[in-house]
Amino acid sequence: MTRPARAIIDPHAARHNLARVRTLAPTSRVLAVIKADAYGHGVLRMARLFADADAYAVASLDEAVRLRDAGVSRPVVLLEGPFDASEVDAILGLGLETVIHTAEQIAMFRVRGRSLPVWLKFDTGMHRLGFAPEACAEVVAAVAEFARPLRYMTHFANAHRRGDPSIATQQGRFEALLGERAGERSLANSGAIVARPASHADWVRPGLMLYGVSPLDDEAAADLDLAPVMTLRSRLISVRRLRAGESVGYGGAFTCPEDMPVGVVAYGYADGYPRHARTGTPILVRGVRTQVIGNCSMDMMTVDLRPVPDARFGDPVTLWGAGLPIEDVAQASATIPYELLCRVRMRAHYEEGRP
Ligand SMILES: *Cc1c(COP(=O)(O)O)cnc(C)c1O
Repeated sequence: MTRPARAIIDPHAARHNLARVRTLAPTSRVLAVIKADAYGHGVLRMARLFADADAYAVASLDEAVRLRDAGVSRPVVLLEGPFDASEVDAILGLGLETVIHTAEQIAMFRVRGRSLPVWLKFDTGMHRLGFAPEACAEVVAAVAEFARPLRYMTHFANAHRRGDPSIATQQGRFEALLGERAGERSLANSGAIVARPASHADWVRPGLMLYGVSPLDDEAAADLDLAPVMTLRSRLISVRRLRAGESVGYGGAFTCPEDMPVGVVAYGYADGYPRHARTGTPILVRGVRTQVIGNCSMDMMTVDLRPVPDARFGDPVTLWGAGLPIEDVAQASATIPYELLCRVRMRAHYEEGRP
């Protein structure tokens, strides 16, 4: 037995969340986003659990190679396209689909004289990747000889804010730039899948919601009928009573206001827990909600055991997941659930099963 830190992946929850996407966007196909090692859940495992998706999306060729090496034959889309001309042969050889968002990428494919499915990306207001709307006719002409089929996409900057006016503005620009052109279209990430049905179009691109996390600010996953896929667990490896006035951990960032029991959890920032989680960040000890106290260390963190006075060495701890929404932990530690999930892949051991 090694350290008790575990990321427990719930296959039921994963399938349930994908089914939720289907219910919310019944006439769209689903491009399941499994970049960043499937948001920290393990890319091969999640490709298997999301086998009902129509296609997968990843952010880099090495992620696509892992899928193909594991025998995944379904369409795989590179969301950022090639980073370098040296990737083009592998993209063609592995039968991948690519986003094209810049003229350099068009040049990389043109010289090969082979066709592949292309998603042309337009910048309708996020101002990260994509061609300007005015360039549409020129870009379409430039990819015409190798883009088969040619599809179109854009990405929202503020889909996490229900009703944000920029969502309609971006959608309007996208529709205006494409006009009557033939070709499938995709706009919606999780936030828009949940909150803007008018944007669903031919393909939706869910990421976060597939993992059971709310994509909307201020709306709980449970209220959207999403179930957390990852539950992060560990155990108490020490239970002690400290006296009023004694400080805990590096920097003594928490001072006991009274005599109190304090627990040490085998989980730390080396496992992906946010180092800057403040005292007050929620955590469950034996299912009872309490708080992190003091500064998180590399392999350990300290917790307030006053709400669980009979807690003992070896008791189970939940850092987030079933029983404790990751959204609550993210908010208390001034970050977003996406970041917390992606960081977990560093070290925790994974298991599959009901949490
Ligand atoms: C990451 C990503 C998504 C998924 O976004 P979520 O908010 O996690 O649903 C969709 N589309 C693109 C282009 C992305 O990069």
